[in-house]
Amino acid sequence: MARTEKYCHCEGWQKSQHQIHSAQLFAGVHGQQYTGDQFKFCPWCGSTLKVMEIPPLPRKKKEFTVYIHHGKEVHVREDLKGKHREHCLCHSCHCFNPENRATNCPIANLVYSICVLDNLVLPVWECPDFIER
Ligand code: SF4
Ligand SMILES: [Zn+2]
Repeated sequence: MARTEKYCHCEGWQKSQHQIHSAQLFAGVHGQQYTGDQFKFCPWCGSTLKVMEIPPLPRKKKEFTVYIHHGKEVHVREDLKGKHREHCLCHSCHCFNPENRATNCPIANLVYSICVLDNLVLPVWECPDFIER
């Protein structure tokens, strides 16, 4: 649903309304929400306020792609393809040693075994055992 905003073309409104709005926002952020009545008339020129519709911001549709990964066709978000390492905590973790599964983090090994089982890529987003490298 589109948002609406009241406005006036007069000089007083143009000069002052955004300062009042900013002060309200600032107070709101600090837990003091404005609960009083809204202006119906411009406090500077007395005109009835006009109402303008603010259209919602366009949402970008996500693009997906298909490619062969480890011999299997997989689907992935186009913008995230190949970015797994950038997002996975393990790649910055002291416990991560994928070259040697025997000394690798057991959680990372478990995640890897699920990946192998079903051709998934699973980045670790949150982990209680993370130790920064
Ligand atoms: S401790 Fe957590 S972040 Fe570190 S390697 Fe293991 S699973 Fe990854
Ligand atoms: Zn006005």
